[in-house]
Amino acid sequence: MSHFTEKFCFLSLVLWGLGVIIVPLTLSSQNYDLVIKGGHVIDPKNNIDGPMDVAVLDGKIVSVSKNIDASTAETVVEASGKYVTPGIIDMHTHNFHGTGSYLANGFLSVQPDGFTFKAGVTTVVDVGSSGWRNVGQFKTQTIDKSKTRVLVFLNIVGTGMKGGAWEQDLNDMDAKLTAIAAKKYSDVVVGVKVAHYSGPEWYPVERGVEAGTLADIPVMIDFGGVIPELSLETLLMEKLRPGDILTHTFGHVKGRIPIVGEDGNLEPYVKQAQERGVIFDVGHGGGSFLFEQAIPAMEQGFLPNTISTDLHTGSMNGGMKDMLNVMSKFLNMGMDLQEVIEASTWEPAKVINRPDLGHLSEGAGADIAVFSLREGEFGFVDVRRNRMDGTKKLECELTVRDGKVVFDLNGISSQIWNK
Ligand SMILES: [Zn+2]
Repeated sequence: MSHFTEKFCFLSLVLWGLGVIIVPLTLSSQNYDLVIKGGHVIDPKNNIDGPMDVAVLDGKIVSVSKNIDASTAETVVEASGKYVTPGIIDMHTHNFHGTGSYLANGFLSVQPDGFTFKAGVTTVVDVGSSGWRNVGQFKTQTIDKSKTRVLVFLNIVGTGMKGGAWEQDLNDMDAKLTAIAAKKYSDVVVGVKVAHYSGPEWYPVERGVEAGTLADIPVMIDFGGVIPELSLETLLMEKLRPGDILTHTFGHVKGRIPIVGEDGNLEPYVKQAQERGVIFDVGHGGGSFLFEQAIPAMEQGFLPNTISTDLHTGSMNGGMKDMLNVMSKFLNMGMDLQEVIEASTWEPAKVINRPDLGHLSEGAGADIAVFSLREGEFGFVDVRRNRMDGTKKLECELTVRDGKVVFDLNGISSQIWNK
């Protein structure tokens, strides 16, 4: 409860004790828990792109407008010269951290809160670290204990990403049991993941799509790798439904056909697939983002639908680093800031069928990011350690989750220590 409401209730009790009947009157001045003043708001869902104040009360956005009166607000953040956006949604992460193996309850998955808020991220989508057999453990161990909102794509493999032979086991790819678990945990499960399979069969993709159809949720494909390669065109034009997702869009690993061929041309079916509703996700990772793919593809007019990190210990200490570094790469490759923010907020929210997320509408949960856009000389590195130089870099100043400040780089929400 805010101080103002507390005082109002106390006064009411005293007057009630004296036999005075209280008729609640319209309060003359609004009271807010937090007001972010003077920033440049980018909220693609609501077509807002300009100077606005943002007011928060009881964990919700209550107003986005010019010149909000902040005189009675508990906390006022001065954000002029900075960008204010919805909390960032990272569509592709691995957060099932534990002492098991690989990314399923494993040491390569990272505990969410340590790596999200510093980059303005308030929602992560763990794609495939868990399957129907261990999503319950993931929920009690990580999801329920994290301040970051953690959503889940269930691996079509029942044991999730335990690595090695576990992920090649066709007998553990059960569409029906995956769909049952998706419905049981529908508060957190928003999709199905197919990944890392290295055989010549379409079976894993088909079981994934079957599970997605049964549970009415999208499927994300990490297309693995096999020689001779499976047809990327068949995957994109025939196997996937509109709304399904290809991740690692700008990767080129052995056994997976890249979207830009050796002649430097974007495969024509890539844009056709995007036009029929297939979603292209970045999923940068430790091995799945190359400038030699991304730059020619973007020069030929192809933009990814969603920007994401594929966060795990292997990617965060390599060229990927964090969500803002990946977003900054796309900014320097020619996407404008509005497109970059949309691909990291409202677009992923739509892809995972969570229209309550990724925007600053009145009544929405108050997940907010405040950024500086630094100008200077910066280097960006891909997964083969090749570098692209750029002049723009996003830096997270402040992150708000559920109305509470959870990260503040320069103390812009704090009082001076001796005042
Ligand atoms: Zn991944």
